[in-house]
Amino acid sequence: MQEMTHKHTKDLDKFYHKNRNACTNCGHPFSESETAHLGHLKDRSPAVLCDRCATLLDETVVRYYWMKDPFESPNPEDKLWRYMDIAKFISLLSTESLYFSPAESFDDPFEGAKGVLEKERKWNDYYLEFFRYAIKTAPGISKEDSSGEKLEKTAQKLLNELTESGLHDRKNTCISCWHCNEFESEAMWKLYSVNVTNAVAIETTYQRLYQALGEDPYIDIGKVKYIDYRKQFSNIGCGAFWYKRKSFEHEREVRALIRNHENTGKGVSHPVNLDVLIKNIYVSPYAPEWFTQVVKDVVKKYELNKPVLYSAMIEKPFY
Ligand SMILES: [Zn+2]
Repeated sequence: MQEMTHKHTKDLDKFYHKNRNACTNCGHPFSESETAHLGHLKDRSPAVLCDRCATLLDETVVRYYWMKDPFESPNPEDKLWRYMDIAKFISLLSTESLYFSPAESFDDPFEGAKGVLEKERKWNDYYLEFFRYAIKTAPGISKEDSSGEKLEKTAQKLLNELTESGLHDRKNTCISCWHCNEFESEAMWKLYSVNVTNAVAIETTYQRLYQALGEDPYIDIGKVKYIDYRKQFSNIGCGAFWYKRKSFEHEREVRALIRNHENTGKGVSHPVNLDVLIKNIYVSPYAPEWFTQVVKDVVKKYELNKPVLYSAMIEKPFY
């Protein structure tokens, strides 16, 4: 078997991020725990290959057990909305970057949670058993290390590390939240703007957001799943950040996730192509007339050639 070179490049990772679900040679879709091979063909083009096609690789960068993404991607044309007050809007335009907040800073204490506190014991018991099994079946492990007190000690240590990394992930996982909806939403205007009379919304799509962030392979974009934490656990590791409580279901959230390993606990400003990102700009239905002109002036000042629209909610009914 070819030796792995572990020579990752951003381009290779970008290719992988886009093509990870099936063998790029024969189209065979990968399933859980199947071996996948990432590397370069003879002509240096990148490839993600199944076992049967793996011999085509001239360089194997990495071989791994394939796992399904812990999140579901939206459809390319799914509409996404971001409601914000004018200060955040100006910041987006002037910095040309999207701010990702650390999960720890969110009001929702369930960000990154695995379950409810009263189920923690059940979770811990499950992982203790899992670690015991993994230690006992590790290749080349001695009898002394894989039984009795030593086994328990190692299993407990691994569990402690798992718990610690869960807390740490809340600091270094940074999130940008979007609302997925075909139409603008009354509730979202009020929920996501500190001052709804001075608010704007930008409309984009999943495809636009992905491209505007430079198709960055280190940013995941997916739908939040809403669950009852009393009945189920979320997910292990950073997979937990794709879950929220049922009571947040109205948010219909799509989130972009990035890890900040360098500056733990701090948010991340990631460059964004505003021209690609923004499809339309909407002014709050609660805004006074002069505010619309302010928004138009701001858009002009930053040379953004995008329509500033009145919220559809301003339309008057007849009876
Ligand atoms: Zn194949």
